[in-house]
Amino acid sequence: MADLYIGGEWVDARAGGRREIRCPADGSLVAEVAEATAEDTEAAIAAARRAFDTGPWPATPAAERGNLLLRTADLLDRDAEEFARAESLDTGKRLVESRYDMSDIAACLRYFGKLAGNEAGRVVDTGSADSFSRIVHEPVGVCGLITPWNYPLLQAVWKIAPALAAGNTFVLKPSELTPHTAILFMRLLAEAGLPGGVANLVLGAGPTAGAPLSKHPDVDLVSFTGGLATGRVIAANAAATVKKVALELGGKNPNVVFADADFETAVDYALTAVFLHSGQVCSAGARLIVQREWHDEFVDELVRRAERIRLGGPFDENAETGPLISAAHREKVERYVATAIEEGAVLRTGGKRPDDPALQDGFYYLPTILDNVQQGSTAVVEESFGPVLTVETFTDEDDAVRIANDTHYGLAGGVFTQDAARAQRVANRLRHGTVWINDYHPYLPQAEWGGYKQSGFGRELGPTGLAEYTEVKHIHQNLKPGPQHWFSG
Ligand code: NDP
Repeated sequence: MADLYIGGEWVDARAGGRREIRCPADGSLVAEVAEATAEDTEAAIAAARRAFDTGPWPATPAAERGNLLLRTADLLDRDAEEFARAESLDTGKRLVESRYDMSDIAACLRYFGKLAGNEAGRVVDTGSADSFSRIVHEPVGVCGLITPWNYPLLQAVWKIAPALAAGNTFVLKPSELTPHTAILFMRLLAEAGLPGGVANLVLGAGPTAGAPLSKHPDVDLVSFTGGLATGRVIAANAAATVKKVALELGGKNPNVVFADADFETAVDYALTAVFLHSGQVCSAGARLIVQREWHDEFVDELVRRAERIRLGGPFDENAETGPLISAAHREKVERYVATAIEEGAVLRTGGKRPDDPALQDGFYYLPTILDNVQQGSTAVVEESFGPVLTVETFTDEDDAVRIANDTHYGLAGGVFTQDAARAQRVANRLRHGTVWINDYHPYLPQAEWGGYKQSGFGRELGPTGLAEYTEVKHIHQNLKPGPQHWFSG
């Protein structure tokens, strides 16, 4: 079936390439999809360029653009179950989590749908009756959107919704592993009435199908979520044509637990922080930084509860978390754990694949806790992006902040304490883009999301998220034009 969406048409890859998509929970074949090459992506960029330069979308009133997003949200609600099943088959994640994702996506569409209509320019007071100035907001142009496999449609819609709200056109390249909800979503946008060429979809590998999105002169903005190494390549590619760039590159997120926190609450959230979606979350609380006097009791309890986490496939109602995305990714997590142990970490639990025969065809890995990791060691510096918690200790508040900020990433973090003033002090001092207090993981479409330091630049969500896709123009008019006689001659 033709499943590249270019210029409002469903087409096959020009070179005829196909790729098998397999469910990470059991290796079963989900479907075959088209495998685009750079040539297909260039055709998609040309379609997006035409739709921007000559099509109706950029000049469509903002409120109408917003209404299209609101209609799309309603259509997604209608089809949520189909979308959730497709997401679970591609990612292996539990169906219940995919259902949450779909409802978060609808909320994101509604947020930007409403915001679109509120985005007004402003008149600037020039201080003179003889001139008039105004600020207008305009779309940036053609956006290249490159997304990962952990929250496939959610990550895509975090980019698509503000891009469309602002009047841009786009080419989306989702992860080669998880294309299906992107295909379904293009159909919804068309059903909602989006003109052909505004939304374009290419499927395929990053270095071939994805690369033109960061290089091609007809792309004005590239927005990427994924790994740090790829982010560096994309930023370097984009520099040649000075594209606008937005990057979300993950994190090495500290979860700081003071000994005055509520013990049960802090343990419970520490587990969710790191083991949700088997740790394949950019904001995962993978670094537990616990006050020294609590260390033994706290880690013992974490180990006890981590060993009870039930693994299983998307449709196993007893499962509490699922597999890793691929064999290659599980091997990466295994290497990370082996290196940590070589460097002195103490393996408290996990550190291997499950023995359960029912799980042998999937890419499962047991929830793992590594104690006694040292600052500066690989385990503390690098992301595992798997179900692996490292444990460090601190003495006092200054020590906690110093350790929590000792990372080149800066995406998110948590603070657990019952001292309200301390919570705010520590949150103020953490150099991370989102800080949760006595909580972990909630995100709100109306609140900005993005990283400090090497976690990236540019914001997603919130009003600033929309601003990323907007050019701001100052238009100044002289109301009494005539010679100025600045020079007498
Ligand atoms: P990547 O960063 O390689 O992939 C993310 C997206 O970028 C995919 O669509 C990928 O394509 C695409 N891509 C890769 N190379 C290029 C390129 N040269 N030009 C344009 N697009 C490109 O992530 P991985 O899947 O390899 O995961 C690596 C690590 O990244 C993980 O272990 C984790 O640490 C981190 N990660 C972070 C995420 C986050 O949310 N911040 C999400 C996922 C991963 P394709 O893969 O289809 O070839």
